[in-house]
Amino acid sequence: MGTIRLTGIGRTFKSTAAVRDVDLTVDDGDFLVLLGPSGCGKTTLLRMIAGLLQPSTGTIELDGVDITEQPSKKRDLAMVFQSYALYPHLSVRKNLAFPLTIQKLSKAEIARRVQDVADVLEIGHLLDRKPKELSGGQRQRVAVGRALVRAPKAFLMDEPLSNLDAKLRTQTRQELTALHRRLRATFVYVTHDQVEAMTMATRIAVLDGGRIEQLGAPSDVYDRPASVFVAGFVGSPAMNLLDVRIVSDGGVLAVSAEGVAGRLWTGDVDDLDAVLGIRPEHLEIVPDAPGAPGVRLKARVDLVENLGAEQIITCAVGAARVQVRIARDVPVAAGDALTLGAALERVHLFERTSGRRLEWVPDTVDESVLVDA
Ligand code: ATP
Repeated sequence: MGTIRLTGIGRTFKSTAAVRDVDLTVDDGDFLVLLGPSGCGKTTLLRMIAGLLQPSTGTIELDGVDITEQPSKKRDLAMVFQSYALYPHLSVRKNLAFPLTIQKLSKAEIARRVQDVADVLEIGHLLDRKPKELSGGQRQRVAVGRALVRAPKAFLMDEPLSNLDAKLRTQTRQELTALHRRLRATFVYVTHDQVEAMTMATRIAVLDGGRIEQLGAPSDVYDRPASVFVAGFVGSPAMNLLDVRIVSDGGVLAVSAEGVAGRLWTGDVDDLDAVLGIRPEHLEIVPDAPGAPGVRLKARVDLVENLGAEQIITCAVGAARVQVRIARDVPVAAGDALTLGAALERVHLFERTSGRRLEWVPDTVDESVLVDA
């Protein structure tokens, strides 16, 4: 078991509120990724769970037991750091054995557990080397091994892949995902890399300014971002975000802005300032057909980038910049004037002032058809 429950967790450093009033339950077996830009509070939150930092407010429970005041070494949690934090003067075998020596297990039990972990991580041939005789990827495995050997209730990982080169990062990412499936253990994993979050997580908590902006499965966060912040942060190239006005036009909701026109859903709404979001892969070049359902953008191509398998087109739409991801064989060149279209079901709307997602709710036509998601 390894269920972690945070209630009202906050941490202030002098005048900086690094984490504010976080309520979060990490279920047993979850691979929860804390995702967000630099300074959003991910590491602070993880260090509080680990017991390396005391919260200013709130409580932390592990399997129903309040561990808020418990020292780090008493918590049945294992942390893997970005820097690996291996003991340089000890062999890999002794590094792996170290947490068990502290627990005063028998020599035979320690040897068995070290061998089991070495087999799982395929590092048996490295056991007699010192950390400096290992590659970055191998050190990273030993660091994971040292966490694994304790069989803790949960693994806490702070950007463990960030010192690896791109290829090794992808490989290790896949290995960690496989390890999680095999162990069915609880993982809490900090990263600012959205690809890691999307590929590894069972759930993602997106943080901004010390608060959780959205908590959900990777597909929820990608397909139904809860705010402009999440929409702009998750996805590469980022979701296109355009300031628009929403008006009722003969019983149909319409969006308008310079270079933007669109008919959305049947209904009525008070005029509203909104942000229109469309992912680059959901735009296509379409014939100019005024009045067609969905959104149409009048675009001028500024740049075409060939990525091998596809191309990214950067365009101007009014004063805004819009990116489109399309197949390589679509003929397009800088200077072209295009109409770009997106289907209705690909359109995201956010309230301009709060940045919160708006959803169309058909049966509230009498009131406002757009409600906070
Ligand atoms: P990164 O991805 O850059 O590591 P992060 O999301 O992990 O960032 P934190 O390290 O948790 O962010 O920091 C959150 C905020 O708290 C930042 O504004 C940071 O400057 C501040 N902070 C963190 N640790 C301390 C400290 N020991 N003293 C003062 N301020 C701190």
